[in-house]
Amino acid sequence: MRLRDFRGEGIISGGFTKDDGADCSTEFLRYFREAVVSGLNPDILPERRLTLEGPFSEWTKSEIVRYAGNENLDQLLLMAWSCYEALPNGLHCGKCSGCIKRKAAFKKAGIKDVTYAN
Ligand SMILES: [Zn+2]
Repeated sequence: MRLRDFRGEGIISGGFTKDDGADCSTEFLRYFREAVVSGLNPDILPERRLTLEGPFSEWTKSEIVRYAGNENLDQLLLMAWSCYEALPNGLHCGKCSGCIKRKAAFKKAGIKDVTYAN
């Protein structure tokens, strides 16, 4: 299916965080939405029905991990994926930039992460 032909409510939600970089900022989302809307067929999906959101874009990774830990959402943290070089056994590699940022966030939040092979 092409986005141009999408029908219904359009909600795109990203797991962006404050420390992910400029391409994950609230400002970037606003410009990205404008780019997507410019390619939509307004008869199928009017601009007002498309939402791009980054609910955690103003939070750091460690703030998210700490919040999840405080709210007993540890199982959701284990399901969150950060690795760019996943191992065949489904674990995080522990070495790529995504894993390094994840490790730092968990350490800073004081939460143990058991998703690594090493
Ligand atoms: Zn990794």
